[in-house]
Formats: sequence, C-alpha cells, structure tokens
Amino acid sequence: MKKLMAANWKMYKTVDQGVATAQELVRLLAGRLPSDREVLLCPPFTMLEGVSRVLADAPGCSTGAQNFYPAAQGAFTGEIAPDQLLALGCTFALAGHSERRHIMGESDEFVGQKVAFGLAAGLKMILCIGETIAQRRAGQVEDVLERQLEAGLSGVLGAATAENLAVAYEPVWAIGTGEVAGPAEILSAHACVRDKLKAMLPAQADQVRILYGGSVKPDNAATIIRLDNVDGVLVGGASLKADSFSQIVLA
Ligand code: PEP
Repeated sequence: MKKLMAANWKMYKTVDQGVATAQELVRLLAGRLPSDREVLLCPPFTMLEGVSRVLADAPGCSTGAQNFYPAAQGAFTGEIAPDQLLALGCTFALAGHSERRHIMGESDEFVGQKVAFGLAAGLKMILCIGETIAQRRAGQVEDVLERQLEAGLSGVLGAATAENLAVAYEPVWAIGTGEVAGPAEILSAHACVRDKLKAMLPAQADQVRILYGGSVKPDNAATIIRLDNVDGVLVGGASLKADSFSQIVLA
C-alpha cells in the first residue's frame, strides 16, 4: 500500500501562484519520490486544471478537490459537480473536512451523501473525521469517530474499495493550531478507525488508507508517517510551500 501524502491548500493562492508551487514541487521531487509514496494536491477549484496539467507528467502525483456538491448538475448556484471536477483532471475529493463541518455547518449525514455521490461519480474519496477538544476532554473520541464513520460510509458499503476510499483522522484541535497530536493519541485513534472499518467493510478494511492530519510539519512528519495504521498524511499550512511539503513527502 502506498502512503498517500496529501496537501490541502484551502483558500490560498492565485492560479499563477498555485501552478508555480506545483511546478516547484515536481522539480524538488523529480527522481526522488519513493515507490511506496503517492502525492496528492488539493488546490482551490480555480487552479485545479492548471495544477492537474503540471502533475500530468509527474509519476505518482495527482490532484483532488476540497469539496463538491452531491448532484450531477442543476440549479445549485455557486456549487460544482463531480463530473466538472473529473473533466479538469481531478481524481480525488475531500469530504467532511472540519472547516466545512464547523464553518459551513455540514452535517454528518450530508458528508455521507457526498462520499456516496462522489464514489458513484468516479472520484476517489477521502472522508475526514475528528473530534473537537471539548469532545476529547469529555472522553468521547471513540464515539465521535465511530459516529462520523457510520454516517460517512453508510451509503457506500457496497462500493468502497481500498483504491477509492481513504479516511483522514484530523483532530479539530490540531488543525492549523501548531498543536500536533502525540504518537499515543494518533495510535489509539487510528486503531479505533481501523477497528470500525473492519466492522463496516471487512473485506477492504486492512487496505483502506488512514491518513493523519493536524499540524504536520517537516520536523514531525517522519515520526508520524511511521506509526502503526498511519498510511499517509493530510497537510494544510505546511503544504503551501513546495520546499516544506517536499520535505514532508520525503520524510
Ligand atoms: C488541514 O487543513 O487538513 C490541516 C491538517 O491543516 P494544518 O496542517 O494546517 O493543521
């Protein structure tokens, strides 16, 4: 199983800046990407096409969308459909990122609709889950992860495979805060996710990649990526500069 080293550029960069960052990353990784690593860039919609073009000639690299609306087409002003993403060369998409859950108010059920719709449309889906600090302090980590997995995956049990589904464990309190979860916290959360996947998707669970996200940086990536049940990382802030993200990819 290849480790998936994913970048989430959020709402940063213009088209020119994003394409330049992707070009620089390809240059830094040329001939150096280990055969067991895969790179994914999730830029804003505006530069998906440009970044996809840059990555088209870079082995092991692909693009993903940060969001989409779960409908084929229609009167959904301001939204974008999976087919429109696929036509730009985009192969992955995120669903359930904590910023969408907490700022845009997306519910567990809506996230589940997106995962199901995206998979049916041919996108590879990364379901993001994670607890808030209040939920962690209240001892609810496992309950929250199980609930988000159940709602996120309930519509896909026949369609999900290790190829088209990954889960990102992203504790909300570690996203963009500089406060990284410690190895013990990551190990126990990822073991919980793996157990739940085994219960829900017994045939695929061992091979479904579980990514960690939350303040991953060049200086902590090597430790995190080697923990049990950590099959990749999802990186926000430290993925915005090619130099720093390339160090994480190669850590
Ligand atoms: C993210 O946006 O998914 C993320 C993990 O951000 P950061 O790496 O900045 O914490």
